[in-house]
Amino acid sequence: MALANQATYFSEKEQSFDSIILYMDLDAFFASVEIRENPSLAGKPLIVGGNPKTKRGVVSTCSYEARKFGVHSGMPVSQAVKLCPHLVMVRGTYSLYTKVSNNIMGILKHYSDVMKVAGNDEAHLDLTDVVSDYEEARKLAMELKDDVYASEKLTCSVGIAPNKILAKIASETDKPDGLVVLKPLEISDFLAPLDITAIPGVGKKSKEIFIRNGVNTCGDLAKLPHQLVYQKFGKYGLKTWKLVNGYNTEKTEGKFVSRERKSISEERTFFHSYSNWKDIWVSLDSSIQTIVTKAKEKKMNFRTVTLKIRFQNFDTYTRSYSLQCYANSEKQVREVVSILLEEFSDKSPDNIRLVGVKISNMIKIDDNQKTLTQFFNKTD
Ligand SMILES: [Mg+2]
Repeated sequence: MALANQATYFSEKEQSFDSIILYMDLDAFFASVEIRENPSLAGKPLIVGGNPKTKRGVVSTCSYEARKFGVHSGMPVSQAVKLCPHLVMVRGTYSLYTKVSNNIMGILKHYSDVMKVAGNDEAHLDLTDVVSDYEEARKLAMELKDDVYASEKLTCSVGIAPNKILAKIASETDKPDGLVVLKPLEISDFLAPLDITAIPGVGKKSKEIFIRNGVNTCGDLAKLPHQLVYQKFGKYGLKTWKLVNGYNTEKTEGKFVSRERKSISEERTFFHSYSNWKDIWVSLDSSIQTIVTKAKEKKMNFRTVTLKIRFQNFDTYTRSYSLQCYANSEKQVREVVSILLEEFSDKSPDNIRLVGVKISNMIKIDDNQKTLTQFFNKTD
């Protein structure tokens, strides 16, 4: 059983390389809006929520200054006042928060059409089809943060990772105004020093059980054999174990809302060493055939061709080229791929672990456009 399971874990770990997800969370949202509206509140321990006169109700949001006293959202106001006697209380201007939130979500939409709003101050963006690597994702995140600030004078914290849960965890390690990029192979090292409660869903109760079993940090859990984890912490514990070991625990994520397909890709992993480029090309050719057939079925043409290549040491490269006109043939893809592959011609094909091809920048062809495209192709 153990062996079979390990094999499953391994294939899931591989899957986690396929998506690039950005998570954005506005910093102390309600409190920050109040401070923006009334700058004299800046630097003060501030809470939004509850009734300032009766000191009843719960804290909805608190400023970072209030957090230093142990105040947190969801806490009864009476308790917050005990912790911080000079706490400043504001009732909250909820209609304004909604307006600001809608505006910011509108800005985010420009960065990816695959977006999931998770609350009035947080959202996930799927950047898989938007950027070609994590460095490009980082640049895009910097632009996004600047845009949000320019528009609403509010800061946000951003995490970028191969799935939603990791993107959220990453964003929370650098607040306020942070930007953390977590690449697939860095996951277990990144999580190791974090308290086990950094994992969403690990609350007070689970923490107690973990601590009783010697697990304080994510790294403590990662080191345990998975059979023992299952025995002691059950199914959920095993899922957490996979997460802290860098496996993808969100099998279908990445494409988290249904949408018009913006790219078609296929990639193949070689479990044996291949000895020559001819075999690599057999694999590439078959991928090219599959994706172009799919594009034709969907009546879509494409402009961008991307080659992905991963070596045995997991170094992964993606190289893209955009054609001047929309294309629809295998031959065109093959030509681009062969040019992109040249960069790696001095490497040994033995060391190639995976090759893949993606077509993107796609356009739906209706019959009129089809005629036009054919016309232009002929006159080229
Ligand atoms: Mg927030």
